[in-house]
Amino acid sequence: MLGPLILAASRSDKMRRFVSAAPGTKQVVARFIAGETVDQVVPIVRDLAGKGLELTLDVVGEDITTVEQSYAARDAYLELIERLKELGLGERAEMSVKLSMFGQSLDGGHDLALANVRPVVEAAAAIGTTVTLDAEDHTTLDSMFAIHEELRKDFPQTGCVIQAYLYRTEDDARRLAANGSRVRIVKGAYKEPAEVAIQDKSEIDKAYVRILKILMEGEGYPMIGSHDPRLIAIGQELARRAGRKLDEYEFQMLYGIRSEEHLRLAAEGHRMRVYTAYGTDWYGYFMRRLAEKPANLLFFARSILTK
Ligand code: FAD
Repeated sequence: MLGPLILAASRSDKMRRFVSAAPGTKQVVARFIAGETVDQVVPIVRDLAGKGLELTLDVVGEDITTVEQSYAARDAYLELIERLKELGLGERAEMSVKLSMFGQSLDGGHDLALANVRPVVEAAAAIGTTVTLDAEDHTTLDSMFAIHEELRKDFPQTGCVIQAYLYRTEDDARRLAANGSRVRIVKGAYKEPAEVAIQDKSEIDKAYVRILKILMEGEGYPMIGSHDPRLIAIGQELARRAGRKLDEYEFQMLYGIRSEEHLRLAAEGHRMRVYTAYGTDWYGYFMRRLAEKPANLLFFARSILTK
């Protein structure tokens, strides 16, 4: 019950102001957000890479309201890529981007987002890495998939994300598996209506398995984005049955969640990528993490009350 309420709050400016100003917030946010600046995230990138983990870096932000903010988002990624180049970490860290942060929802936003993301994808390719387009709410996905297809003409390694809770996703998975895409499959983190999305958790898990099977049996590179132990075990089994070697798929988990599992999978020889978010506009990302696990909300409430 709490999850949908928290997701509704993640879109409220009033709640944003309240949560951001609450004493104790920063301490809880720090569990999921690796820092506010590039300088703060660099030691974490080094540390994770040193432990044999791969990374995908996300400069947090979404739902911007001006074109200038979309340029700032592009520039923040370009700065990050420059730092990765200086550090020689280009091959260990890819980037995850939300197109809404690149202007997708503004007037003429599809073209603006494409124009902003292209130089980021180019800069990433120049240091030997790539970009994955995150999946946001269902109204944004046709545009995201069209941008993904456009970018892949020059940069075939560009990845995208599909969400198991959406009815459309099995079709998307078939198309992407056939054209050899890098695809991250996740359960889905937004508040979606019953017309477009499965609401029952166990049905979402079943859909996840069906979709992952399509990806594993296809031509692309599946990226299993989940902390769910059952889905991780099923992912390993589906990869084995599809005859995939360890470097022909990967696991992905979020920074701050089940960190010991990141290390266990890496130690078993799996490619394990940690989605590491940083930046100042953390509100939406943070609230989705609270919605996924109500116990996080209790921890958060306690930390506010004891400050
Ligand atoms: P769950 O059943 O939710 O969790 C399984 C177990 O993992 C839980 O029992 C708990 O122990 C642990 N866990 C999960 N979440 C939390 C948490 N927040 N705090 C503490 N413990 C937790 N969603 C999108 O809609 N678009 C995206 O682009 C996107 N990208 C993602 C990238 C990565 C690498 C990952 C891992 C997730 C991403 N998500 C994205 C979020 C995803 O949709 C789910 O909301 C999230 O992963 C929780 O689902 P789960 O598969 O981990 O399973």
